[in-house]
Order: sequence, then C-alpha cells, then structure tokens
Amino acid sequence: MKRRFFLKFGLSASALSFIKPSKAIDNLHGFTSNSDSIVKPIVISTWEHGMAANENAWDILSANGSSLDAVEIGVKTTEADMTNRSVGIGGRPDLSGQVTLDACIMDSNSNCGSVACLEGIKHPISVARRVMDDTPHVMLVGQGAKDFALSCGFKHIKSPIKEVKKEWREWKRGNKEKFKKPIINSENHDTIGMLALDANGNLSGACTTSGWGYKLPGRVGDSPIIGAGLFVDNEIGAACATGLGEAVIRISGSHTVVELMRQGYSPQEACKETVSRIISKHKNLDGLQVGFLALDKKGNYGAYSVFNGFNFALKKVNKSSLIDAEYNRRW
Ligand code: ASP
Repeated sequence: MKRRFFLKFGLSASALSFIKPSKAIDNLHGFTSNSDSIVKPIVISTWEHGMAANENAWDILSANGSSLDAVEIGVKTTEADMTNRSVGIGGRPDLSGQVTLDACIMDSNSNCGSVACLEGIKHPISVARRVMDDTPHVMLVGQGAKDFALSCGFKHIKSPIKEVKKEWREWKRGNKEKFKKPIINSENHDTIGMLALDANGNLSGACTTSGWGYKLPGRVGDSPIIGAGLFVDNEIGAACATGLGEAVIRISGSHTVVELMRQGYSPQEACKETVSRIISKHKNLDGLQVGFLALDKKGNYGAYSVFNGFNFALKKVNKSSLIDAEYNRRW
C-alpha cells in the first residue's frame, strides 16, 4: 500500500467565506469548470484501484446505461481483486482474524442500501443493492446481512485468504501490545468510493471496503453509512470519503460536502471545507488521513485530503487519468 504524503496548503475555513455562491471556480488543478456546459457521462473513484474500476463502469455509461448500474459494476472490479488488501474478500481481517466488509450504494432517487460487518460474501456492494431494491430497509448488519445475502443466492466464500491469514499471524506475533488495542495506521486501510453522472444526467454512488485492518471485532466504519462514506442528491451532486472512518462519521462527511455544494461551493472547495472541519475537530492528527471526492450535476469534480498522498481516477470521453488530490499538510 502506498504511503500518503502531505503538503501544507494555506487556505483557511474563513477564507472560504469569500467564495461566491452559485459560481463554480477554477482551482489549481482545474478540477472544476466555470462553463455552463455539462460533462456527461463521467465517473470518478478513489485511489489507483479506481482506474480499472472506472473502465468497467464506463462500459455501462458509454452504452447509455444508468449511473446506478455503472457504480455497482465498477466497484465490483475492486471487490473481485484478491490482491487488494483493503476492499473485498482479499482484505485484511479484524483483530480476531475475521474479514468483515462494509458497503453502500445510493441512486438518483435517494434510494439507498447498505451492509456492514458482512463476512464471507464476495460482492457486498451487490448485497447492498439488493437491500435497496428488495427490502423496505436501508441497512443490514452482521449475521442478518449474511443470511439475507445467502437467501438472495450469494455464495459463501472462505476468508481470510491464505496470504492474508499469514500476514495477520505475523502481524500478531510482532505486535503483541498493539494487538490488545487497534492503532490508527493509515497504511492498512482504503476504500473504493465511486461517483458517476450518466448520459441522462443522473447521479449515483457506491462505496465498499474491508475497513480498518486489525480493527476491533464488530467495528463499522464510515463506508456503509449513508451521509458519512457516501451521499447523493440528484439535484446537487454526490460525494464519497476514504480514510479514517471514525473522523468522517463525526462530521457526516459526504453529506456535508453535498450540502456545501448546495450552498454554491464548487466540488473542490466543498471537499476542502469539509476536510478543514475534520481538522478543527481533532487535536491530534497523527495518522488521521481522510480524503473526499465530489461530483456535481454538471460533471464538475473535486477532491481534497488531510494529508498528501490521496489520488483519484477519472474517466470521461477521451480521457482516463489518475489525479493527485490537493491536501492540507504533509505527513
Ligand atoms: N473509510 C474506511 C474505514 O474507515 C477505510 C478507508 O477508506 O481507508 O473503514
């Protein structure tokens, strides 16, 4: 896993009060545009693993498919990658050696579905979609989520996989003290969060992770929590988060980003302001990496993180790239 490095960027929260509502502003990396044209379809997703995920999402989007199908198919790519240690069955386990998965999905009609602490299922995002499509509920957790998945025909898969179990045993041996209490370590977690705007102008998002490696059993992060790890409002925009979930939950991070866009912040500035809220709520920022990604109704996008090292994948017509996000400080 890559180390995430940081650079000090001096715009304070108070400086943001100078941003005029209803005007998307150009920023240093040109993430946002001040033109009135709409860029669609478009898909963005967190981290380098988003590159492959975007390609599969693009197959749907470029064929005039829905953003909902695109984000589900897209993040399944990462869930299926058994070499990925932070998403899906190939992810790191909790302290007791069990891999538990968190995921959620949200569409342009504000329908949403979520699973948390789900064990032994390859595609938690598809179970989350079934919760959304086939039940009156939003969220199922633990054994209830597992039973529901099995009843829908999802197969049980044994986890952790051999390599991960070996790594966990070694970690346990070398970290007797840490084993008693999880430590914040930005090296051992990640998420794929994906946001898409389809050709019909509809937004959807998906988010899936194995969470904080060697977490306390039963721990649930931000990723399956609507409003924290993901939020979509089809009138305004969509946002998702990656990083230390506890910090994201504390400020309802993704919902905050979308609400700031509603007030006229560009996606970039909304992510930046939300990061500055996280910073202001924590005296100790050791290991506290959080990054936000946002996409608005016009296809403008933005990203910002506490520390350097966060990147995201972008795919639109004639363009596919991995972009370094701006950040508040260096590690
Ligand atoms: N947000 C995820 C969690 O806290 C992990 C990550 O994105 O790094 O479970």
